[in-house]
Amino acid sequence: MTSPEDREGAQGLLLIGSTGSIGESTIDVVRRHPERFRLVGLSAHTRWQRLVEQALEFRPAFVHVGEACLGECREALAGSGIEVLSGRQALVDLPLRDGVDTLVSAIVGTRGLEPMVRAIRAGRRIAFANKEPLVTAGGPIMEEVRRHGVSCLPIDSEHSAILQCLRGEKPEDLSRIFLTASGGPFRGWSRDRLQQVSREQALKHPTWSMGAKITTDSATLMNKALEVIEAYWLYDLGEEAIEVLVHPESIIHSMVEFRDRSVKAQLGLPDMRIPIQYALSYPDHLPLQMEPVDWLKLGSLHFEALDEDVFPAIRLARAALRQGGGAPCVLNAANEAAVESFLEGALPFHRISETVERALEAFAGHSGESLEELIALDREVRQRAGSGDWPAIRATRDAKPRQSGNL
Ligand code: NDP
Ligand code: MG
Repeated sequence: MTSPEDREGAQGLLLIGSTGSIGESTIDVVRRHPERFRLVGLSAHTRWQRLVEQALEFRPAFVHVGEACLGECREALAGSGIEVLSGRQALVDLPLRDGVDTLVSAIVGTRGLEPMVRAIRAGRRIAFANKEPLVTAGGPIMEEVRRHGVSCLPIDSEHSAILQCLRGEKPEDLSRIFLTASGGPFRGWSRDRLQQVSREQALKHPTWSMGAKITTDSATLMNKALEVIEAYWLYDLGEEAIEVLVHPESIIHSMVEFRDRSVKAQLGLPDMRIPIQYALSYPDHLPLQMEPVDWLKLGSLHFEALDEDVFPAIRLARAALRQGGGAPCVLNAANEAAVESFLEGALPFHRISETVERALEAFAGHSGESLEELIALDREVRQRAGSGDWPAIRATRDAKPRQSGNL
């Protein structure tokens, strides 16, 4: 066991969403490299018992938990010296606390936007899996990143792959990028067949093990659509330079093509600990004890075109990018509301994309340049999503009026 003194040079991490799929993989990476990484703060929402276990193992200075679990969490950590916080504003302010060098954002949905912006403005390094903020407000976020000169490193495996492929290359030499997609559990299905999809079927991803929201997004291909928008902002490319390629084995995590048609790809097993660790140790590749790819057993890799008639998400993302302004924000908010309704059993699977399409029509031309405008637009879309104007979806929790945090 390494003593706190030994860890003095370690990077101080604030991990929000610590009890989720990315959160747990991040914890595993930190456990393997105590000399490099130190958890200063943890945040979770409902799984307070797991949060308490993590806190007792890593002894962060503070934890943040959902208000409904505050009492139990405080009681469980009484006498530990670990501060227990709760509430929206406290979450947004966590990145300002002493010892935080890096925000690791593993929270789900747009609720990660304000903590992310707060961290950037405070000059903290960002390692983010939570892609919804960049889809909602990519313009203002990237402007803040430039203004404050912070590193903003993607954990998403495709974007991590591109980051690795682009090292040492000149931006002007880049021609296209290829985001790979497993195709999800309904690859090859017809539109009619998608009408019968159950929650259980949608939550069974063929190659990745992830939280319920992103697993649903992977089944509708909306996850890839969000990733096209994420790549647009991170790598400063036109949407026409971002291709999507179905690759069922999920071994090639993405590729870049240069103007001489030379192509570089990043490959590896589908295990999120690889891109998480890379975002934390960038530009170093630290050791990671895991099975290597067995190339001979794998044998071959396959590629297919995406069926955009059955899965319209990518087409909607491209339209939103071309439209600009608040359109990507509308796409994301309508999708979050629709997925939540699907997971609650209130909306059939095939109506998720339809909801997003209707939302984009309803809010066509809606401006939204500043962060404040986009936060307001996000809220408005969720409220309308619950009003019955679109497919039968109910108001989501985040549609309840909330003050945007003090950034
Ligand atoms: P999970 O659902 O597994 O985890 C979500 C985390 O966020 C949990 O710790 C949860 O707390 C917390 N949380 C949920 N709601 C709130 C809230 N209202 N306030 C504070 N905390 C909250 O999600 P994933 O780990 O799968 O995904 C996280 C993000 O990373 C998503 O944006 C996803 O798109 C992205 N991503 C995920 C990948 C993956 O492999 N899973 C791959 C690439 C990107 P609790 O559990 O305690 O309620
Ligand atoms: Mg991804």
